Amino acid sequence: MALIDIGVNLMNAAFDRDREAVAAAAEAAGVSPLVITGSSGESSLRAAEYAARCPGKLYATAGVHPHNARFWEAAAREQIRSLAARPGAAEAVVAVGECGLDYNRDYSPRDRQRECFEAQIDLAAELGKPLFLHERDAFADFFAILKKRRADICRMVVHCFTGGEGELEAYLALDAYIGLTGWICDERRGRHLIPLVKKIPPDKLLLETDAPYLTPRNMPGRQRNGRNEPANLVHIAAFIAGILGKDAETLAAETSANSRRFFALDA
Ligand SMILES: [Zn+2]
Repeated sequence: MALIDIGVNLMNAAFDRDREAVAAAAEAAGVSPLVITGSSGESSLRAAEYAARCPGKLYATAGVHPHNARFWEAAAREQIRSLAARPGAAEAVVAVGECGLDYNRDYSPRDRQRECFEAQIDLAAELGKPLFLHERDAFADFFAILKKRRADICRMVVHCFTGGEGELEAYLALDAYIGLTGWICDERRGRHLIPLVKKIPPDKLLLETDAPYLTPRNMPGRQRNGRNEPANLVHIAAFIAGILGKDAETLAAETSANSRRFFALDA
């Protein structure tokens, strides 16, 4: 098995005590490389520096999550831009994000979120990087911005897709990649995703854990009560492979090739 976890919040405090062991356990389980999610200027710097220590095994995104949009200013933009010029970090940073809109919690005012999102689309265009996107309860505004800016975007992935069929079709019409997490393993709120998985073209599907969040609810035994870890991507992949009627190895090979192409990991 050779899976790539495209969304791990490895700099989260939940991993402060055993970050290296978590990454090693993932690799031992066949989940490597990992793409560490940056969610603020500060966390993106930390993620890029951490990833730069393990070339080829760890990568990072650099961006400002919509929750943190109220802190968006020139400083965050310069922090992220500076990464692209720093040896080591430049190779480690493979996307701009996560960025987008989140009207579910509204931790930042919506106009600030839109401003912060568009500024990061500008940044991705300037740096020639793909976008790692987050959307929650904000589809109409989010999609309108993507559609308007489509020509400025080289590639984009809607990470942790949890939407409905119409939303999926709209994203695919923009040639977006779709990131699936263990949300789909949740019998309470993920069931609607099961028929939708079959509608995702095999060359557009990416897999992620969003660890330490979203532990798959159908993990065996006690594991389901624990912190999510990138090694659990094996479980998520097996579940999705079952839905698609493929063997897990085939799905792993397909989604890993997609991840390498999306993030230009072999460039
Ligand atoms: Zn997210």
